Amino acid sequence: MSLVVEGARKEFVARRGARVLALDGVDLEAKPGELLVVVGPSGSGKSTLLRAVAGLESLDAGRVLIDDRDVTGVPAGRRDVALVFQEAALFPHLRVAANIGIGERARGTRRREVETRVREVARALDLEPLLGRMPDELSGGERQRVALARAMVRSPRVCLLDEPLASVDTELRLRMRAEIRAVQRSFGVPMVHVTHDQAEAMALGDRVAVMAAGRVLQCDTPAEVYARPATAAVARSFGPLPMNLLPAADGVILGVRPERLRVCREGRGRPGSVVAVEPSGEECLVRVLPDGAEQDLLARVPWADAPHPGERVVLAWRPEDEHRFDAA
Ligand code: ADP
Repeated sequence: MSLVVEGARKEFVARRGARVLALDGVDLEAKPGELLVVVGPSGSGKSTLLRAVAGLESLDAGRVLIDDRDVTGVPAGRRDVALVFQEAALFPHLRVAANIGIGERARGTRRREVETRVREVARALDLEPLLGRMPDELSGGERQRVALARAMVRSPRVCLLDEPLASVDTELRLRMRAEIRAVQRSFGVPMVHVTHDQAEAMALGDRVAVMAAGRVLQCDTPAEVYARPATAAVARSFGPLPMNLLPAADGVILGVRPERLRVCREGRGRPGSVVAVEPSGEECLVRVLPDGAEQDLLARVPWADAPHPGERVVLAWRPEDEHRFDAA
């Protein structure tokens, strides 16, 4: 089972005639059993991409292939694609089992068959003890799991998740990430998970596609995108903190991650003044304005090494922690 998107282009004409290129030539592939995370800021085209794969949005150009079959013109109902939204809307008057099976029942599958399938999926997702409950007897996380089960019960060829964890708290989000991975492992379908949350993309994705303004800037493993961002834009947008960028000579931009920038009291490096110190868990975020620079740089340092605002410091980094990008 696989998903391929080729040269997807979609333009919206807004009310006053303004044009928005929501997808500007997107190529993407989710391999069998792969969890691909599409990450990008709001408005970068993530939802449009998912909706196009699901068949809820037509493309101006490009193709969508599922299991090597061109489904570009195929209506949503005949694509075998499951789509899970942020708001796991369950039917409040139906028990969990009925909620999971309702789509299949609506498609005319026989009751016995649906019941068997619901039980199989519930077992895989550890939902068996909850099958008899009503939605208002479930926690937020359990509701999300039921929504996932409802998506998987149809044996989709591709499963799409649109910010499914956006509205849940941190603790639950961590647990739900594990759930999503478990679903993926037990069903082996390619999953495309859309989020604006960098940490989620890093934690969850077998690969991540970094999107901005309707384009995929880079698509690779999280470790690779973190270690070798393809462009300055990726470096700014992917990682726990945006990478520091410093203009260098000849149209080259230097980049150093805040977690690799050292703030020293003395020694060789770039002198500057501490502008701000902000606690961040075990560590501090320190802003330093290098002498003669317009833009301050961010460093993440242990509490014990944190300087005071106004202090004179020297910024240093190891050559291997330096990235280089074209200014263009
Ligand atoms: P994301 O999911 O990354 O937030 P979207 O795919 O929702 O981004 O939107 C991409 C761009 O397309 C945005 O600028 C958005 O305003 C625009 N857009 C999305 N849907 C429509 C629509 N139906 N009509 C007009 N513009 C739209």
